[in-house]
Amino acid sequence: METPSGDGMRFETKAIHAGQDPEALYGAVNVPIYQTSTYAQEDVGRPKVWDYARGGNPTREALQVALAALEGGERCFAFGSGLGAESTLLLTFRPGDHVVLANDVYGGTYRLLSKVMGPWGLSFTTVDLTDEAALRAALTPVTRLLWIETPSNPLLKIVDIAGVAAIAHEAGARVVVDNTFATPALQRPLELGADAVVHSVTKYVGGHSDLIGGAIVTSDPEWIERVPYLVNAVGAVPGPMDCYLALRGLKTLAVRMRAHCEGARAVAGFLSAHPRVTKVHYPGLPDHPGHDVAARQMSDFGGMVSFQLPTPEDALEVARSTRVFFLAESLGGVESLIEVPGPMTHASVAGSPLEVPATLIRLSVGIEHPDDLIADLERALG
Ligand SMILES: *Cc1c(COP(=O)(O)O)cnc(C)c1O
Repeated sequence: METPSGDGMRFETKAIHAGQDPEALYGAVNVPIYQTSTYAQEDVGRPKVWDYARGGNPTREALQVALAALEGGERCFAFGSGLGAESTLLLTFRPGDHVVLANDVYGGTYRLLSKVMGPWGLSFTTVDLTDEAALRAALTPVTRLLWIETPSNPLLKIVDIAGVAAIAHEAGARVVVDNTFATPALQRPLELGADAVVHSVTKYVGGHSDLIGGAIVTSDPEWIERVPYLVNAVGAVPGPMDCYLALRGLKTLAVRMRAHCEGARAVAGFLSAHPRVTKVHYPGLPDHPGHDVAARQMSDFGGMVSFQLPTPEDALEVARSTRVFFLAESLGGVESLIEVPGPMTHASVAGSPLEVPATLIRLSVGIEHPDDLIADLERALG
């Protein structure tokens, strides 16, 4: 099928055109939702493209071409969830292999390694990736993968992708970056030396809190050969309707991210000046420890802000009191969300090295008017 990569176009243009030629029969400007499980074959064992839709679907294909173009990778593989993408990528390794994992990754990533892939035979070490000596000490002769997440969830820590990727490559390990928080609109890890990017498409790529999806983007020849085999053999695939919604979200990613960043900047500024707030975690603030690295490797600082109050009870009270910010898990949608990671998104990491402060509140700043968001927080804090 026609799948232009969008070479030479700018980001905003690729988001709307890569993989998205008008449909051949009627000229529909949107990629149709190919709601089918199978395809009529031209002869016995001679399918046109795919024989069965676990292996592929034209709506999924369009999403994959578009997201690969935006991340600057050769191929993208879409999944039914971010964790579906992550588990499929981890299944390219073998029992006995070792993974080095950032010590503040998404809780579900930690759970996947510690409770599922660990018993299966993949060993792992968590490490603070801002500490070069600790990273070097964690790499062993059987380390095959370094797993980075930046900005991280929920503390918005920043990892120098190019720096740690060089160290991992020296040790013979490949590097994957969970780019869910930044999105390719703000950060392109493959250009900084990563071997693959994973996404929870559920978040900013979809952007409207109306789907669950995931993706892997890579130019690594071994993964380009192995991952599609596992897509079909393991089966964590997305449906065409969700691929259509993700593609529709992708078209406005650049403009949405500008609005998310603007809102987050305003909210972080407001919180920094508020007497009840003891700490604000936002890489756009000049006193954030990762500010300089973030300014170098990202084009803006993203839409996530977290902050701390004096006591856990304060955090619960404020999270219960906002009206514009909905009290909910997840992030990256047009609507603003507030949550307390300890008992909510990060309950699964309680007691682990990833445990987060109970005084922490996480905000996903939506694209409402920043003045309304600040007024809502002011009321809740006051
Ligand atoms: C949500 C999330 C995931 C998991 O994605 P799902 O689509 O929920 O399976 C992975 N990484 C990060 C950073 C996330 O926020």
